[in-house]
Amino acid sequence: MAQDLPVLIAGGGIGGLSTAIALGRAGIDATVLERSAFAEESGAGIQLGPNATRILRGLGVLDVMLPQTFRPEAVWLFDGLSGRRLATVPLGDHAEQRYGAPYLTLHRADLHAGLRAAADATAPVSLTSGFDVSGIQAGDGITIANLDGTKLEGSSLIGADGLWSTVRKSVAPEAALSYAGATAFRTLLPREGLPAPFSAPIIGLWLGPKAHLVHYPVCAGGALNVVAVTAGGREAQGWDQTADGAGLLSGFTRWCKESKSLLERSEGWRAWSLFSLPALPQWSRGAVTLLGDAAHPVLPYLAQGAALAIEDGATLAKYFAASRNDPAAAFRTYENARRPRTTRLQNTARRFGRIYHLRGPARLARNTALGLRSETAALRQFDWLYGVD
Ligand SMILES: Cc1cc2nc3c(=O)[nH]c(=O)nc-3n(C[C@H](O)[C@H](O)[C@H](O)COP(=O)(O)OP(=O)(O)OC[C@H]3O[C@@H](n4cnc5c(N)ncnc54)[C@H](O)[C@@H]3O)c2cc1C
Repeated sequence: MAQDLPVLIAGGGIGGLSTAIALGRAGIDATVLERSAFAEESGAGIQLGPNATRILRGLGVLDVMLPQTFRPEAVWLFDGLSGRRLATVPLGDHAEQRYGAPYLTLHRADLHAGLRAAADATAPVSLTSGFDVSGIQAGDGITIANLDGTKLEGSSLIGADGLWSTVRKSVAPEAALSYAGATAFRTLLPREGLPAPFSAPIIGLWLGPKAHLVHYPVCAGGALNVVAVTAGGREAQGWDQTADGAGLLSGFTRWCKESKSLLERSEGWRAWSLFSLPALPQWSRGAVTLLGDAAHPVLPYLAQGAALAIEDGATLAKYFAASRNDPAAAFRTYENARRPRTTRLQNTARRFGRIYHLRGPARLARNTALGLRSETAALRQFDWLYGVD
């Protein structure tokens, strides 16, 4: 019987591992197939809102990785041209009390290692590296093939294989990614010796014409993750392109001394182009479904792509456990439950990106509006996002 076979998960990234742990904890056999090694090598940071950390706690992952994380006290918003501080969104205790889970920043490798360790410790989960899911055949269950021709059977298949998903081609073959017209540059630098405000225990968000800059501590506060996003730039596939630091600086020539000083002291920039995907007609076809970036990539302006993948995994496991003999029905229910929230988040992220990059009088109006809001109101606007869904 196909139902006795494991659930196959293509992709051992943040979404794939979270889903496997959630399924495993519900007593469901899950096999994760990862094309490379189960290790995150990009030297980048990540923010995890309370909506993600609450789930990670439930999966037994949060406590393990907590020592490597940082709990920022607030987001400080600055005008990138004048250097003026515009607003504060309180995090730290404030956010933790409001949402029942912390807002954290950490190195992606630490998140990945925590997920990997939890997956290893969850008995019905098995992890296979070096399996590049290519051929997908549906019959009584699902058969997938590795690039080398090796075949594997499962009850169903979850495509957690990221932005350039192969599984998506079998669910929504007409879907095409398009360049979103912006490039993200990132690097890490030691935190020791940095001047204020870069030494502060906060997330800094600097807004400017056609560009913005984000920095936050990672590695338990030992390093600062810096991300600069500029409109334009070249279109390239992959997360880890070499980047020209001088070219990046040319997008910030009119920026204030302080913000430029951070960019100038940073080295080893890596770049990746941002992509959008129109809403898919469906995420699921029979016993095959998609989650995370494979289903609904989100622009990084709310720092929520990984959090959405983690939420997807928890929701999918809940419905699968309730309908394990009928994966297709479980996948339909999961998709219906998740679509409204992921669509709202994609639209909000796009809108935030436009607001971050305003120019001229619109920029000044934005700065004034940000200054009028109380700190509590600044956080309250995210209740729908960070609160219990
Ligand atoms: C500039 C920027 C900053 C960001 N910052 C944040 C942030 O602060 N917070 C946040 O929540 N999100 C952030 N994100 C988004 C986040 O990184 C992604 O949304 C998240 O990684 C998606 O997880 P995923 O599991 O869907 O895909 P991925 O993490 O991309 O994992 C996909 C996995 O599938 C594997 N794979 C691919 N194809 C195959 C195949 N055919 N067979 C087998 N394996 C395969 C890949 O090797 C990879 O391991 C950011 C994104 C950008 C661009």
